[in-house]
Amino acid sequence: MATQWTRRQVLAQMGIAAAAVHTLDPHELCCTVAAHAQTADKDLFELKKLGDGVYAAIAATRYKVNCNAAVIMTDDGVIVVDTHSKPSASRAVYQQIQGITQKPVIKVINTHFHWDHWQGNESYAAQNPKMEIITSEKTKENMSKPDAGVGGVPYIEKQIANMPGEIDKLKADILKETDAAKKKNLESNLQQAETFLQELKQMKPALPTRTVATTLTLKEAGREIQLHALGRGHTNGDLYIYLPKEKVVATGDALIDWMPFLNDGYPEEWVQTLTALEKLDFTQIVPGHGDVQPKGHLAFFRGYLSDLIDAVKKASAGGATLAEMQTKIGDQLAPKYEAGMSKHTLGRYRDRVGQNVEMVHKKVVLKA
Ligand SMILES: [Zn+2]
Ligand SMILES: [Zn+2]
Repeated sequence: MATQWTRRQVLAQMGIAAAAVHTLDPHELCCTVAAHAQTADKDLFELKKLGDGVYAAIAATRYKVNCNAAVIMTDDGVIVVDTHSKPSASRAVYQQIQGITQKPVIKVINTHFHWDHWQGNESYAAQNPKMEIITSEKTKENMSKPDAGVGGVPYIEKQIANMPGEIDKLKADILKETDAAKKKNLESNLQQAETFLQELKQMKPALPTRTVATTLTLKEAGREIQLHALGRGHTNGDLYIYLPKEKVVATGDALIDWMPFLNDGYPEEWVQTLTALEKLDFTQIVPGHGDVQPKGHLAFFRGYLSDLIDAVKKASAGGATLAEMQTKIGDQLAPKYEAGMSKHTLGRYRDRVGQNVEMVHKKVVLKA
């Protein structure tokens, strides 16, 4: 059962003083959109039907990124995979779900601990106090660690500490901007940033109530749902949600329609984990970000990771500096990957390849 504690109460239970949480290094940010980018052109989510009673809620671009959700109907109620960066976003998905069924949300599953995948848990917990929140064991641990990476309860404090600076920067940018369209976008982004800060301050983090060590099969009335922890990849606790009958898998950020984010990841093991995932019989992927993908996208995404690792290993063995590698490898892999990894406003090839090179160098070559 999910209890509605305030974030300060949760931190206190974890033995962490809010003041002890260090502020956010901009380098840690996983998903930033250009300050002047258009972020309010569409509804927050588009619900796409993938099969009988199975949907993908595909997130539109917002100043503070939202992940996609998978929505699975059962005879007893609804199961939702991932809950975005804020309760207002999960409430928006819930409203759309209610257009299909009046049954309650009985289970939330978080694919990993990153902020943009679980900070909306509380809105589902509030509508059904008996609801379960399921994650891998590692993800549950990460939720309370101050240094796990870009997510968890202590990370909420970091965001709260960081937002006033971001808001001041947006205000300054608005004053400087002469292009009317960009100014309008900046004003929308400022409004979104201010609302986000208010939501963060009021957050009542709803944490996992049940964990998965390696595999768990949920035999929900009328449906089989398998949860698989297949190894380390995007994080040390990625969970894959697999519907064998409908041949759908929800992958969180371990397999996305953007460039991967490697800062909390394990590049070489990630390649192996995706190969384990490939053995499951599925045809559609609900990725953590971007659009629904066919199974073939797995080989493309994994190919990028393994080509990147090979390129960084070779270049550093040849004595290249990090800056040289970032330029050279970015250009070298572009013909194969730039177009396919730049379909959306966020997470595009050129935005991330330099940081990806740096992370592979750090984690694979230096083993730091
Ligand atoms: Zn994400
Ligand atoms: Zn993530």
